[in-house]
Amino acid sequence: DPFLMLDEFYSDDPDDYLAGFPSHPHRGFETVTYMLDGHMQHQDSGGNTGDLGPGDVQWMTAARGIIHSEMPQQSEGRMRGFQLWLNLPAKEKMKPAAYSDVPSAAIPVVHLGQGVSVKVIAGTLEHGEKKTAGPIQGIGTDPRYFDVHLDARAVFEGTVPAGHNAFLYAYEGEAAIGDDRKALAHRAAGLLSDGDTVRIEAGEKGARVLLLSGKPIREPIVQYGPFVMNTREEIERAVNDYQSGAFAKEQ
Ligand code: FE
Repeated sequence: DPFLMLDEFYSDDPDDYLAGFPSHPHRGFETVTYMLDGHMQHQDSGGNTGDLGPGDVQWMTAARGIIHSEMPQQSEGRMRGFQLWLNLPAKEKMKPAAYSDVPSAAIPVVHLGQGVSVKVIAGTLEHGEKKTAGPIQGIGTDPRYFDVHLDARAVFEGTVPAGHNAFLYAYEGEAAIGDDRKALAHRAAGLLSDGDTVRIEAGEKGARVLLLSGKPIREPIVQYGPFVMNTREEIERAVNDYQSGAFAKEQ
C-alpha cells in the first residue's frame, strides 16, 4: 500500500514481446511505465500517443477510465523495463484520466559521489543540504520513485518520509540493506521496516536498485483484471461501463 504491482519485463526474444498489449481498459489507479531498453508506442482513448524509448517514463492516471494499447516498435533486440501500478484513494478513483510522457532528458540524475547516482523519476531526493525534484510531483500518495545506480561496494544513504511504506527491487546485481546488512538478492524485492532512513550497499558487481515509497491509503482493495476499486459493486460497474462503451465516451 499504495503500490499494487511492480512488473519487470525483460526479454531478448521477439517472440516474447511482439504481441504487445493491444487495446485494454484500466480504472481506479495509475500505471507508470519506465523503459530501460527497447521502444514501445502508447495510444489511448483520450487521443494521447506516446513513444517510449530507453530511459523514458510514461505516467498514466487511469482514474475513471482509459482504454489504451502498448505496442512494441521493434522486431529484434532487447525489451526491458518496468510497469508499476500505483493505487488511488476512493475520492480520486473516478476523477478524469490524465497522461504524461516524461522523456529521459527531463529526469534528473544526481551524482552523489563515490560511485553512486540516482535518477529521480518521482518525488524529491534529499541529499545533504540539497534537494532534487523529479518531474512527477503533486500526487496524493506522495510517491518517490528513484533508480539508484551503485558501483561495486558503493553505499547509498537516503531518507524515507515518516509513515510511508517503502520497498526496494534489485534489477541488477545484489545489495546489503540497512546497518544489519540484510541481503537483497538479484531480482528480489524487499519491504523496508518502519523508519526514516535507508542504506543500500552494493555487492561485488555493483547494483541497480529501484527505491519506491509512498503514503499508504488504508482502504479496502477489490481488483478484477485491469480494474482496482474499493468494492465489488464498483468493479461490476467498471465492467458494465467498459462493455457499454462509456469508458471511451468519458474522455
Ligand atoms: Fe495497460
